[in-house]
Amino acid sequence: MRHRDEKGRRFSDSAAVTDVAARDRRRAILESVTIGVTVAAVVGAAISGLWLSTAQTVRENYRTHLTRLALAAAQQVDPELHERIRHPEQMDTPEYKRAVEPLRRMRLAVPGIRFLYTLVRDGQVARFILDSADPGLHNGVEDRSSVWDVSVSQQPSKMIALGEPGQPGRPTATLEPYTDPWGTFMTGYAPIFDASHRQIGAVGVDVDAREFVAYLREARQHLLLGLVPAAAMVILLAVAFYHMRLRGLVAAHEVAEAARRAQAAARLDRLTGLANRTLFMERLQHAIERVGSGHQARFVVLFLDFDHFKLVNDTMGHPAGDELLRQIAERLRGSLRASDAMSNELDGNIIARFGGDEFVILINDLRSARDAELMAERLLQALAPVYELCAGEVHSSASIGIVTSTDGLESAEAVIRNADVAMYEAKRAGRGCYVVFSDAMHTRLTRRVHIESGLRKAIGTPELELAYQPIVDLETGQMASTEVLLRWNHPQLGEIEPSEFIPIAEESGLIVPLGEWVLLSACRQLVEWRQTRPHDAPRTVSVNVSRAELALGPRLLERLRNILEQTGLPPHCLQLEVTEREVMRDPVSSKALMHRLREIGVRLAMDDFGTGTSSLACLRDYPFDCVKIDRSFVSDLAGSRDVLALIHATLTLVENLGMTSVAEGVEDISQLAVLQSLGCRYAQGYLFSHPVAADALLEAVASAPIRPVEARPPVDRPARDAA
Ligand code: C2E
Ligand code: MG
Ligand code: MG
Repeated sequence: MRHRDEKGRRFSDSAAVTDVAARDRRRAILESVTIGVTVAAVVGAAISGLWLSTAQTVRENYRTHLTRLALAAAQQVDPELHERIRHPEQMDTPEYKRAVEPLRRMRLAVPGIRFLYTLVRDGQVARFILDSADPGLHNGVEDRSSVWDVSVSQQPSKMIALGEPGQPGRPTATLEPYTDPWGTFMTGYAPIFDASHRQIGAVGVDVDAREFVAYLREARQHLLLGLVPAAAMVILLAVAFYHMRLRGLVAAHEVAEAARRAQAAARLDRLTGLANRTLFMERLQHAIERVGSGHQARFVVLFLDFDHFKLVNDTMGHPAGDELLRQIAERLRGSLRASDAMSNELDGNIIARFGGDEFVILINDLRSARDAELMAERLLQALAPVYELCAGEVHSSASIGIVTSTDGLESAEAVIRNADVAMYEAKRAGRGCYVVFSDAMHTRLTRRVHIESGLRKAIGTPELELAYQPIVDLETGQMASTEVLLRWNHPQLGEIEPSEFIPIAEESGLIVPLGEWVLLSACRQLVEWRQTRPHDAPRTVSVNVSRAELALGPRLLERLRNILEQTGLPPHCLQLEVTEREVMRDPVSSKALMHRLREIGVRLAMDDFGTGTSSLACLRDYPFDCVKIDRSFVSDLAGSRDVLALIHATLTLVENLGMTSVAEGVEDISQLAVLQSLGCRYAQGYLFSHPVAADALLEAVASAPIRPVEARPPVDRPARDAA
């Protein structure tokens, strides 16, 4: 998986961090530039407004200046004299000189005035009359205009100053520099009036435009000086914003990253680094939806449970258990990495630890259901070799349950439940193997769930009853004892066999209250018989005790004492039956418990002898009073001499050890005859009586076909070779 690849992870993490940092920087720059440009545009707009208004002010001021000059010049003109000069030939006549002289003086006196002249309107054109310029060339052009020359310059202000016929002109000036053959000028114009206020022409004062241009430039320079701090402010603002924004983005990423890490951590198993249940269930639900919508053909879920994990924890300590789990996780990763890439993608394959020693694997896009089995085989191979732990070596094979999406399940919980059921079947099939979930398992499971919930409700109701089966003394034909057996009449399912519901009661823990009720009822019943029918009552009552009850240990002893005290039954009247399989499951601790039970004074019977793994020799080590030979031997009596030999050996040994033996499941008279010939003292079976209700027991025994054995027939020790 990619995230387990240390180098790869570090590489991809740092690359991702660099990418994010570069992206943040780009974003901060872009936003700062946008802010900078916006502020610059606003400041620019303000400054260009100022720029325009400054130019306008300079122009207006200059126009006033030019107009004033023109008005002053108009004052110099003698209107009468001026009116007499209208012909070209009057140029430079004494009269002309007299008329132009004041203008000439003014031109020379006022710096900046280049030309000073008068004009008159002649229809649509203006004609020169007086020109104060000194004769000479300027730019290769004659400086001075003659009387009645047409003015070539197209200045509109000039015609404004000259006025329209019947409408007097007004003082004015040009706003922009203009260029003519004599240079670039700004000109002020003022009308000339005679004594009766009749306009007789206009004065023009040409000033070199350089002066105006210089004024304008100076004003703009002042303005531009103001632009420098504004620009600096914009830059500062943009830079400050950039830093602030970058810091904000980095902080936001850090917060988001911390949140993402926390979220990811909450979905990982701390011990193994694999996904945990939450993450797995999400992915599984997603896979179910993908199959439902046709985005993938099928998926498979493998549910793994490891054998003996609890033993490792109990005997080697929890650190060893943790180490084992880590090694298991590593092997799972290793064996799946090769062909089925695990990934962090939503559609990817995933391994998870569900807690304890349960692991689950989801493989998406599986080609065929057979591939799931191949994968399970590969996993079993990878997980089988010995685990080297600090505390020592451990073997732990896995049991695997397989569920494929072809089972059409719609919830992740249902898939896991079925995978768990299949895994459980694998365990029952002998561990270290896999089982593919089937519908039959589902039916069994449903019935099991039904039975468990029904049993929970049945406790303390008449649905549950006790039946009693006599154990007969073959020498006297009398009932020596009775075994109490549970009966359950389920309201829907009818009679349910104890062999079906007792294991369920054991697994669900319901056997504890149930067993207590059986014990109490059985003791009460015997006490009642002893009081009401002292001659017919069985000497003992035999009660089956299950594994879960034995596991109670001291609490079972405590409970027994209470029941005996409560009912007043002498302890030797109660016999507890423990199956050979249960005894052998944990021989050491069960031996200790048996001894403590014996100390209370109750009798002990080893039930179903011959179905477990105990040897005849080990009987000696346990404080049993009675050994019940399993029904399977009795039913084989007629057909097998080996069985005959075995039963004979058992009966002899049991007798020699001072115990009694009971043959279970005696159904016909021939079996009885053989057992009697072998010296069997006690028997139980349908031949004598089926298990019956308490009130029918004593009568049932009375009508049983038992004949007391008068003399034990000689027992031939059956030999293998005996024909
Ligand atoms: P078990 O203790 O070995 O009980 C004997 C079983 O053999 C009983 O089955 C009985 O009905 C049956 N049986 C007796 N004689 C014959 C016969 O001649 N032929 C045949 N074919 N069967 C015969 P049952 O009642 O179905 O009980 C089955 C098992 O369930 C019992 O085996 C016992 O292990 C368990 N069980 C029954 N009641 C209780 C109980 O109250 N507590 C516990 N812990 N287990 C119980
Ligand atoms: Mg029994
Ligand atoms: Mg039995």
